[in-house]
Amino acid sequence: MTPTLTVHAEKTGLDALHEILDGDVVAPGDAEWDEARLAWNLAADQQPAAVVFPESADDVVAIVAFARNRGFRLTTQGTGHFASTLESLDKTILVKTSRLRGLEIDPEARTARVEAGVLWGEVSLAAAEHGLAALSGSSPDVGVVGYTLGGGLGWLARRYGLAANSVLAIELVTADGRRVRTDPDNEPDLFWAVRGGGGSFGIVTAIEFSLYPVPEVYAGVLFFPFERAAEILNAWLEWVDSTPVELTSVGRLMQFPPIPDIPEPLRGGSFAIVEATYIGTEEDGAALLRPLRELGPAMDTFGMIPVEELRHLHMDPPEPVPGVGDGFNLVDVTPETIHALVAVAGPCSGSPLVSVEMRQLGGAVAEPSTEHGAVGTIDAGFALYAVGMALDEEMTEFVEARVTALEAALAPWKADRGHFNFANSPKDGESLFPPDTYRGLQWVKVAYDPTELFRASHPIRPAARR
Ligand SMILES: Cc1cc2nc3c(=O)[nH]c(=O)nc-3n(C[C@H](O)[C@H](O)[C@H](O)COP(=O)(O)OP(=O)(O)OC[C@H]3O[C@@H](n4cnc5c(N)ncnc54)[C@H](O)[C@@H]3O)c2cc1C
Repeated sequence: MTPTLTVHAEKTGLDALHEILDGDVVAPGDAEWDEARLAWNLAADQQPAAVVFPESADDVVAIVAFARNRGFRLTTQGTGHFASTLESLDKTILVKTSRLRGLEIDPEARTARVEAGVLWGEVSLAAAEHGLAALSGSSPDVGVVGYTLGGGLGWLARRYGLAANSVLAIELVTADGRRVRTDPDNEPDLFWAVRGGGGSFGIVTAIEFSLYPVPEVYAGVLFFPFERAAEILNAWLEWVDSTPVELTSVGRLMQFPPIPDIPEPLRGGSFAIVEATYIGTEEDGAALLRPLRELGPAMDTFGMIPVEELRHLHMDPPEPVPGVGDGFNLVDVTPETIHALVAVAGPCSGSPLVSVEMRQLGGAVAEPSTEHGAVGTIDAGFALYAVGMALDEEMTEFVEARVTALEAALAPWKADRGHFNFANSPKDGESLFPPDTYRGLQWVKVAYDPTELFRASHPIRPAARR
């Protein structure tokens, strides 16, 4: 993209920024403006003061100095999957890290170092060449950094924990313009905060994390007719009670839109679904799955697969889409929870939701450790996420109303605190963390960004100085 700086840019001093960066600066009025401000979630209408595309960590240092000196604020995005969580971008420069593309795997040490624009699908493929797996989430084109800063709940989580706890070091530029490599020995308070506290503390330029020796898994999806929603979700619930931590599963209702992007026979179809991943042999996996298979699925995709193929298991959209949704944790799920869920989102409800999923937690996700960061565990039995398409205003309102109705129906089982990565509307950080953790994050914010140069998803507000 070649930037065409405009009169607007000159007025706001953005032309000076253009002079000091290797990367591009795009301002309102430029021919590239609408493309530059676009987020992965096409429903987000982002209106920042400018969009910058740093080419290096030095560019990021220059952007931070420029914003501080000229009275702008900064918000950082890898992909814009989480764009719907941002508050107003007034007087805010949007820093897009998509050109920071370095990716190194150390097969001996079983570690990866990736720059801030790298996506999970890229890491999964590179790690798999060495028989290794990363703690990626369900979608291959989610950014490694955004996902990990918010905790990161993936297919291997019940065995290996949240992605944030496998982080070894984070390189970032702080509000005072320093390039910091934070790890357990270097600025440990900052290292604690960025592992789960989100993007409130600086602009991450690279991240280093552990990989695990998992070359293949037993995984797949069972599709049942939508009409059997209550029966299948109840059977899944009974089943997950006794599954080992090597198995992570999802109970889900899906209504695939009738659009060409969705392959037959799923296009336009509605299903009750169980997805699962088992770290172990085919024989053991098939034995574990037997009770659900005996229910007679209409389609069954289970088998041994290379671990990198997990990136397709959840059937997340392969391209940017307009979506609205929200998610939260459920302390527990009972047959009454399922009854309430199916009443709002099941076959007779007229629900417009494309997906309502419950992900099983527990195992390593629930095991605390003194070495963890701000989000080490999730103290709940399940994580729920509901989403629908938002192609126009009417559809958006319809979907939003149904998500709100679902949240109200499930209120008796809802956990007190939200789930950072699944909360898809702007939330104050205070509602997402236990009080002591939030206070700790606020003190780190005071130490590193007291004037709130950085606007992040689910922001941490600096503690009030006495
Ligand atoms: C289809 C889909 C599937 C998903 N699946 C999962 C899943 O399986 N598990 C899970 O835990 N979550 C999942 N999520 C949620 C996802 O982890 C969050 O939306 C996450 O924030 C996305 O990161 P991103 O960098 O792609 O998004 P962005 O919108 O680019 O970034 C999100 C936020 O992260 C911060 N940030 C990003 N980059 C930087 C940086 N370089 N420096 C500082 N701060 C930064 C900013 O605060 C930014 O607003 C999913 C979301 C979608 C849309």
